Amino acid sequence: MPRTLLGVAGFPVAHSRSPAMHNAALAEMGIDWLYVPLQLPPERFAETVRALPASGFRGVNVTVPHKLAAYGMADEHTTAAAAIGAANTLSFTDGRIIADNTDAGGFLDALAVPTGTLRALVLGAGGSARAVVHALQETGTREVSVWNRTPARAEELAAELGARHSEHPGPADLLVNCTSVGLDPSTTQEQALSTLGLVGYEPPPIVVDLVYGAGPTALARWARHGGARVVDGLEVLVHQGARSLEGWAARGVPVNTMRRAAGGR
Ligand code: NAP
Repeated sequence: MPRTLLGVAGFPVAHSRSPAMHNAALAEMGIDWLYVPLQLPPERFAETVRALPASGFRGVNVTVPHKLAAYGMADEHTTAAAAIGAANTLSFTDGRIIADNTDAGGFLDALAVPTGTLRALVLGAGGSARAVVHALQETGTREVSVWNRTPARAEELAAELGARHSEHPGPADLLVNCTSVGLDPSTTQEQALSTLGLVGYEPPPIVVDLVYGAGPTALARWARHGGARVVDGLEVLVHQGARSLEGWAARGVPVNTMRRAAGGR
């Protein structure tokens, strides 16, 4: 009987913390599966993923740039994946490929507060912004506004998911950075604020930065300095991974172990 496999498909994928995070959880759970990185260029993604179940794979996480392709090739979609139009989790069951999106639930788990009274401002209009706006709308957030460098994309996303489009970042209780600004660790606070239209803007009480790296991002430093509660991208990564693994293993997973293995506290 070949060993059951899981993995993360991306391009590039060598930097991914998911293998360490998932393998630590599997070891603690006493499950003898292995989670591996899968470096797949876009032109080989669909064909390779279709071959994975025959090689012992139960499922894979999917990261940049494959989330739309993963959604498109699936036979079934969870409600979240269908609403978001992108998948970060594929499960292989009875010859079928099931697409899920745990970025939305992972974001809510990391946020860990009810959203009903919050005015949320989401920066960005790409795949992760779609997941976050969907999550906020699903949980009855008082107000969800979307700002993006390319306004037409924010307008489109907001219209599709029932949120507001913001020409300029307006007052908020929760700010979520879903752009890739800050991914380059040399980004200064001034550069980040200026690129995101936040010059002169006071950090709201809660700031989530989906971007993560070796240290705090420029936006996280700005938010912390301004007294905000900061939820970093690593925490979101841990929770989206925990939700994926919960689905594959059909039981609870050790989130603290995953956080430590991913490099968080
Ligand atoms: P994406 O679909 O490629 O979207 C990128 C977004 O960033 C777009 O809104 C784009 O604006 C904006 N952007 C890029 N460069 C910019 C700049 N210089 N100034 C202002 N805006 C800029 O990417 P994604 O999948 O949504 O991911 C976004 C970030 O979130 C990435 O850094 C990713 O690593 C991170 N992420 C983290 C997690 C996690 O678990 N922590 C999960 C998902 C994503 P335009 O529309 O104007 O191009």
